[in-house]
Amino acid sequence: MNSADTVKIADQAIAATYKRFPVVFSKGRGATLWNPEGDAFTDFVAGIAVCNLGHAHPRIARAVAQQAEQLLHVSNLYYSLPQTQLAAWLVRNSFADRVFFCNSGAEANEAAIKLCRKYFYDQGHAARFKIITMEQSFHGRTMAALSATGQDKIKKGFDPVLDGFEFVPFNDIKALEAKIGPDTAAVMLEPIQGEGGVRCPSPDYLEAVRNLCNETGTLMVFDEVQTGMGRTGKLFAYEHFNVTPDIMTLAKALGNGFPIGAMLAREKVADSFGAGAHATTFGGTPIVTAAALEVVTIMEQDGIVEKGRATGIYFRSRLEELADKHAMIEDVRGKGLLLGMRLNGDGDAIVKACMDKGFLINCIQGNILRFVPPLIIKEKEIDDLVTCLDGILKQIS
Ligand SMILES: *Cc1c(COP(=O)(O)O)cnc(C)c1O
Repeated sequence: MNSADTVKIADQAIAATYKRFPVVFSKGRGATLWNPEGDAFTDFVAGIAVCNLGHAHPRIARAVAQQAEQLLHVSNLYYSLPQTQLAAWLVRNSFADRVFFCNSGAEANEAAIKLCRKYFYDQGHAARFKIITMEQSFHGRTMAALSATGQDKIKKGFDPVLDGFEFVPFNDIKALEAKIGPDTAAVMLEPIQGEGGVRCPSPDYLEAVRNLCNETGTLMVFDEVQTGMGRTGKLFAYEHFNVTPDIMTLAKALGNGFPIGAMLAREKVADSFGAGAHATTFGGTPIVTAAALEVVTIMEQDGIVEKGRATGIYFRSRLEELADKHAMIEDVRGKGLLLGMRLNGDGDAIVKACMDKGFLINCIQGNILRFVPPLIIKEKEIDDLVTCLDGILKQIS
């Protein structure tokens, strides 16, 4: 079916929750996507920070095919090898001692929120259930994740949201100090805010949050759904900041496109998730964990995190050159290959103009261009995008 017919039928059959571009993709390889007509696009969105190893990676395709021939699913009433190996890998490579697998970022955050409450309940402090999160944060769209999210536009129309969430401005330790109290169970935050505008913390902020949590016995939860798995130039973003959380959530890039989420925790906290405390049918099912296990194996063998970090430095320097040339660019922000560029004008028009020239980029909050390409993106591909942006910015200024 051609693109025009697909768009027409889709718009009649699919809920309109996404404002979609009228583009259909049917094939991908590396950082390139093709529509059914054969037009190529270079992908600086990567399914929103998901396809870190690029599209249709042959090794992932093979691992999935092999697993599919063996076993797709068994219940978590039983053990399976891929789930075991993936959990062991995550424990080996992070601060955490235990992993709970689920199917998305929102679900991983649901698990984290439930675990925080259960942890204090088990200690006889059931009234200590409040979770402080950040203004402009994004934690997902399920009811609890949405309640934790610090953006009114995402909550509008869904009241009453879940009780027990309080909000402070990101990067404001004084505000957190003032808010944290005897009924605070946890502080939950993205180490670098993604959807909120690629906002980095000031140098000592996260360490100060950690200290405050230590002093008050409060749990620290990092939502690394977007920042995790090498996106920021380290395997996990917390490694940049000299802090470790008590709980961390992952999803987006963990399966390179296979839907998987994970909640990781230190043992003393994870102990509160005993038999029957939480569950999901598909969590960590063999087919998905086989995919994710191949993803992390490739990342390790091919030095993807280090390569992505170097590419991120290069990309950032090219964006800063653009910022020097164009008054419309107010700043360049981010870390690794989670990069943003704030404009003093409409970002959506630039996204559209890039698409017409065969480049996919993304705009958040109306005026911030976000670049989250596969970590395997080549300097040449970055150069081509920068040339394209340069031309577009010249034209509209
Ligand atoms: C995308 C995202 C989520 C939600 O993940 P889903 O898989 O869409 O539920 C949660 N937190 C952060 C930081 C995200 O970027």
